[in-house]
Amino acid sequence: MKKGKKFIIGIVLLAIGVVGLFGLFGNTDDKAALAVGCVLLIAAGAVLVVLDRKFPDKNDSGSDRKKSKVYVFVTKTGKKYHSSPSCSALNGGGYRMEINKARKGGYTPCEKCQYDYLK
Ligand SMILES: [Zn+2]
Repeated sequence: MKKGKKFIIGIVLLAIGVVGLFGLFGNTDDKAALAVGCVLLIAAGAVLVVLDRKFPDKNDSGSDRKKSKVYVFVTKTGKKYHSSPSCSALNGGGYRMEINKARKGGYTPCEKCQYDYLK
């Protein structure tokens, strides 16, 4: 559970605002200006904290999606990769491989499986 930057900045602003409000009980000449300033600080801090909760780091979810790997099936002799382990071209002798590795290894998609999205 890593807190975002916005969350930390929000908490700091909130703290400054609250401390400033306590200053109102002291001998301050310009209480109205101080009150407005503190309320603004607290509001800004609250907004940042809420934003951080609602929109956690977009980069994290993006990299998660990239990490989900697609596996295909290849044979030791063939040069095709198959989307289904039960494809007839595998003859029951296929083994699992990550699709990017299959592509780099020169494998091309099998026409029999007809999984166009893997191409
Ligand atoms: Zn196939």
